[in-house]
Amino acid sequence: LSKKVSLFTDSVIRRMTRISDKYHAINLSQGFPDFQPPQPILDRLSQIAYKGPHQYAITWGAQNFRNALASYRSRLLGRSIDPDAELLVTCGSTEAMMVAIMTLVNPGEKVIIFSPFYENYGADTILAGAEPIYVPLNPPYFNFDPDVLEGAFRQHPKALILCNPSNPCGKVFTKKELEYIAALANTYDTYVITDEVYEHIVYKPHVHTYFASLPGMYERTLTCSSLSKTYSITGWRLGHITAPASIIDAAKKVHDFLTVGAASPLQEAALVGFQFDQTYYDDLLALYTHKRQIMLDGLDRAGIIHNTPQGAYYVLLDISEFGFHSDLEFCEVLAEKVGVGAVPGSSFFKEPIHHLIRLHFAKNDETLYEALTRLEHIK
Ligand code: GLN
Repeated sequence: LSKKVSLFTDSVIRRMTRISDKYHAINLSQGFPDFQPPQPILDRLSQIAYKGPHQYAITWGAQNFRNALASYRSRLLGRSIDPDAELLVTCGSTEAMMVAIMTLVNPGEKVIIFSPFYENYGADTILAGAEPIYVPLNPPYFNFDPDVLEGAFRQHPKALILCNPSNPCGKVFTKKELEYIAALANTYDTYVITDEVYEHIVYKPHVHTYFASLPGMYERTLTCSSLSKTYSITGWRLGHITAPASIIDAAKKVHDFLTVGAASPLQEAALVGFQFDQTYYDDLLALYTHKRQIMLDGLDRAGIIHNTPQGAYYVLLDISEFGFHSDLEFCEVLAEKVGVGAVPGSSFFKEPIHHLIRLHFAKNDETLYEALTRLEHIK
């Protein structure tokens, strides 16, 4: 076996789904919705079953999918995106991030990662032979220390990974913070790879700023996102990268040899989502705002200390008072005895943090109420 594969474990998030299923627990570990995707997307999917396409799409994404994606991304980024030159369609944002890193980074080069971080970035950097520099986001507001960040930039990293809104801590970076990162990226000539899959799940009064939309930043940003969370189709594995033509040109080659392409019938069905008007996104946000409230109120009732996410659909719970040495062990007991699946916080932190667990709230209200009732009884 290669040395690389001994350097990371399997995904703890996805392991927790298997553990939840084993105990028939309510799975609040791996974040995916248990409700149906939008009806127009489903209607289109059922037509496609008979009419196709069923063969490969163009490697970097079906032409009509990229055309629709380009107008949607142009709207969001506030600039005109060329569907042929500046977009790459991938198998989820998971592939987008991997491709972005492999396209930019040579073995031994450094990549800044904020901690806590979405666990894939650890494995992504190892597989690309990159060397991570972790910069802590400090609880309770998960702010970074500007001097620590500049110290990381002084090591001349090739890229910085920016998960905004952040999974798992729900931080939404302010415009001011992003401008500070932009100034450093300029000074130290560093690329920025964003993971913005929760771009439409940003709770008021917080506002999502696209890093690529800051002055001068489009040129050095690879904006990665996906349709998974926006249209509740996590199993369809549709993601994309938006970046300047010279970067996309190189990324297309990496993607081609990794996967050939994303599923063509699913691209054809999902593209109707890009035509939804603002009401769809307002409703999506209202839905998650409501679910966040159910979750936070329930945790307060149960007397469990937690953060308040500004974006995304996760909450971190402080389990210090339950007297477990290991958050992993706590999560196993929680799944088996209480019937709730969670992710141990340690899988997101570089620092030795073992007193947090992550729950997601992309579930039907009844399911959330039931999970919260179970949690009330653990004290
Ligand atoms: N983003 C989801 C989470 O953090 C899971 C994504 C995945 O498993 N690919 O739970």
